[in-house]
Amino acid sequence: MKVVLRGHANTYGISDVLRLFCTKVREDKEKNEVTAEDGPDLTLISEVYEGRAFTYRDGEARPASDEEYTLDPKRAVKKSFYVYMRDLMSVSYPWGCLTGIRPTVVAEEEGFDEKSLSSKYLVREDKAKLACITGANERRILEEIPKEDMGLYIGIPFCPSRCEYCSFISADATKHLNILDKYEEALERELQYIADNILRNISMVYIGGGTPTVLSDKTFERLIYKVRSTLKMTPETEFTVEAGRPDTITSYKLSAMKDAGVRRICINPQTMRSETLSKLNRRHTAEDAVKVFEEARSIGFDVINMDLIAGLKYERDEDFLYSVQRLLELRPENITIHTLYKKRRAAMGKDEVLDRELTRGSVDDALIKGYEMLFENGYIPYYLYRQKDTGHGLENTGFALPGKECRYNVAMMTDRRDVISVGAGGMSKRIFDGGRYERCPCTKDPHEYIRDPLRFASKKVLFFR
Ligand code: SF4
Repeated sequence: MKVVLRGHANTYGISDVLRLFCTKVREDKEKNEVTAEDGPDLTLISEVYEGRAFTYRDGEARPASDEEYTLDPKRAVKKSFYVYMRDLMSVSYPWGCLTGIRPTVVAEEEGFDEKSLSSKYLVREDKAKLACITGANERRILEEIPKEDMGLYIGIPFCPSRCEYCSFISADATKHLNILDKYEEALERELQYIADNILRNISMVYIGGGTPTVLSDKTFERLIYKVRSTLKMTPETEFTVEAGRPDTITSYKLSAMKDAGVRRICINPQTMRSETLSKLNRRHTAEDAVKVFEEARSIGFDVINMDLIAGLKYERDEDFLYSVQRLLELRPENITIHTLYKKRRAAMGKDEVLDRELTRGSVDDALIKGYEMLFENGYIPYYLYRQKDTGHGLENTGFALPGKECRYNVAMMTDRRDVISVGAGGMSKRIFDGGRYERCPCTKDPHEYIRDPLRFASKKVLFFR
């Protein structure tokens, strides 16, 4: 399949839409064309003519247009092309022609008007509503974070085993036990350098991974105390640890976190079906997650997040909804719902992930029901993002009981506040007036990081000058 562009050069937008329907998509900017090796055998014209966008077969006359023109040309060509492909392939997507990762930004541009989102971008009613509610919550939370504040992320890119669906560049900790302590020491050095050189209010701290609690009790304790003492935290500082996998969370670590002032922890079962967990190569059961949750509660954690995944390979809708129900019984303050998507580095094959029944047909319905259950139980969506190249075109959404939202997640996902990232594999972001932002990556290789953490730290300090 070939798409020839006329009157515009938005090969990026056209290829984005084409990826919803085909997988082997290539942009050719020089020829102003987009091709899909596995698409239908035809040539289409995507054209902007007299300010309107058209899509039609090569050799046919340009169709008449009676549509009121309300979109900028970049978006109009995507919409026109999406409509053509949708009708041709008889496949439509819940987010319509929105292919970006931040639908809440478009919702904000539309004044959080669900109808406008649906009519202009062909977003399904329930998703338009979700984007508008979430976007409004994001904006409210952002208003609570002063513009000069920044977030600080600390990455621990190690895990006790590799989950089958994982695309994250994490190292299997069992093979790297000898460097975990050295890695922590390197983090301490970088943290100190950053604290000495970036004299700004760090009001959100997030230790994520990987699995931060993969560190031994003592090493983990050293790290969180270093974070606390170096960053001069106040009672208002939001301090989150993504403890993550229940098999790594010990009583010792829970107490250490509590004593060090960690205010929010994540205990992520992903599913409450133990059979699935075992098939996914996660070395814990659903009951382990419950046990850790109850222990965390008993020592006083009052903001706990739990993650679930919809669309896991070995599960049906009922399994996902069962997991949602189990979490509602525990009533953590935050429940984050991820949808399984095509991941480049995952052990799962592309064909499996593109299986519509597996990735969208069923997951889509399960999400609708799962969200309903969350709404009925008082949870509100407060941040939302999508990932590129998804097989299903769905979203990941963070829910919270009102007043218990994680500010760091909103700052990070909306790209509206500076975030400095400590450790290997992290991405620092600097936000400029007008919404523009720049990124500063760090090496993904923990060995390289350990060798000279201050080299990376000084680069980040310069980045924020
Ligand atoms: S815990 Fe998360 S980062 Fe680690 S292997 Fe599993 S999915 Fe990947």
